Amino acid sequence: MAKSETMQEHLKHPVFKTISEIADREGLETYVIGGFVRDIFLKRKTTDIDIVVIGSGIGLATKVAARLGNLKVSVFKSFGTAMFRYRDTEIEFVGARKESYNRDSRKPIVEDGTLEDDQNRRDFTINALAISLNKHNYGSIIDPFNGLLDIENQIIRTPLDPLITFSDDPLRMLRAIRFASQLNFHIEEETLKAIIQNRERLSIVSGERVAEELNKIMMSARPSIGFKLLDKTGLLTDILPELQAMKGIDTVNGKSHKDNFYHTLEVLDQITPNTDDLWLRWAALLHDIAKPVTKRFDPVHGWTFHAHNHVGEKMVPRIFKRLKLPLNEKMKFVQKMVYLHMRPIALIEDEVSDSAVRRLLFEAGDDIDNLMTLCEADITSKNRERADRHLRNFKIVRRKLREIEEKDKVRNFQPPVTGEMIMETFGLAPCQQVGIIKTAIKDAILDGIIHNDYAEAYQFMLEKGRELGLTEASKK
Ligand code: ATP
Repeated sequence: MAKSETMQEHLKHPVFKTISEIADREGLETYVIGGFVRDIFLKRKTTDIDIVVIGSGIGLATKVAARLGNLKVSVFKSFGTAMFRYRDTEIEFVGARKESYNRDSRKPIVEDGTLEDDQNRRDFTINALAISLNKHNYGSIIDPFNGLLDIENQIIRTPLDPLITFSDDPLRMLRAIRFASQLNFHIEEETLKAIIQNRERLSIVSGERVAEELNKIMMSARPSIGFKLLDKTGLLTDILPELQAMKGIDTVNGKSHKDNFYHTLEVLDQITPNTDDLWLRWAALLHDIAKPVTKRFDPVHGWTFHAHNHVGEKMVPRIFKRLKLPLNEKMKFVQKMVYLHMRPIALIEDEVSDSAVRRLLFEAGDDIDNLMTLCEADITSKNRERADRHLRNFKIVRRKLREIEEKDKVRNFQPPVTGEMIMETFGLAPCQQVGIIKTAIKDAILDGIIHNDYAEAYQFMLEKGRELGLTEASKK
């Protein structure tokens, strides 16, 4: 069977037939191009379709949208593009173009061009494939750079000289690494070398675009591929030097610590099957971020990373700000996870006592399941027996967490006796003693001395007040 016939199978979306008819009527050469074509061969689901027209993309989009039922078209005149949504698909039209670049900007100077010009401006061979939509050759593939072969061999390669391609638009370097990570492809040698040579060009890419690509690497099935490539090409030094600093093993008196860079990447890969939450994945990447700055060698205890969770929590906002990641509750969640990440493991190293579980539940609140998922991924011990023991213990912790939450409801703890009640009972104005009693009640509940219950807490408050030499207002 000829390729064009098999391709027709993939052009079943009703929009293609309409585009084809109108393009023929208007005498316009028209192709579907880029990610949609690539993803046919990769058997990936895509919801975006890019159409390239030798002529006006906006004109064709307007006519097709009218035929499909007066769909609303968004026109971006300065880019020469037009887009509409049809059912669950976004279809973007653009006139074929030729691009040239200025050294200090990613923004190209654009002229009308041929299909060949348009394919030349594409970033990778696998992204430059086009399929004709005109009737006389409907479904034929135009593959000037052997993109199909590169898909088969799982290779990322630029169509033209990679040094120029990356220097023109350095965002492509990150895109190369992102596709390698998403698709589990190799970056071809010359292409990889060109990234290394152009690493400084990254400075003209906006922080937002870098963040977008980083997040796509984060969401891939094996993000470690992307981060190892960022490291290998030198891009990591500019993007996330704190992660780079985790690389390496030091040895003193024959004692070594683990390589925290590779450990972190293992944790990140281990968490991905268990969560699609981008921010939990960020927490996995950053959980040990303060290890390099807190590292000490102690002749008795060996390597220590004292308070690295706390220092790490403090480092997160600086990193998020620099990477143009949101400085909102998502960041706070990442900070919380970094801060708490050692708690469950500390808990299983001792006996898993009810009060320790209750305290953990109190501090983690509704994020407790995410915290447990992070801690389970944090087990990268090569000693299978040790790893299995930890995982078994975490199962016990999870069970205890459920039991205690059912019993004591401390997950979203609200004190049964409030500050106002304390003040009223002892006739106090706001003062330190109110805080002392409040904390004592909370601790008594968390330690299991009293239940999370009004009557018991009230009684406890009276006792504590008496200890402090206070008298009940009614008895004054
Ligand atoms: P994804 O949808 O997974 O982000 P994609 O490549 O399908 O990836 P877009 O980023 O929308 O989606 O890009 C569509 C097409 O435009 C690409 O396939 C490629 O041909 C081209 N392209 C996008 N960005 C660039 C770029 N910076 N330089 C050159 N070509 C690009």
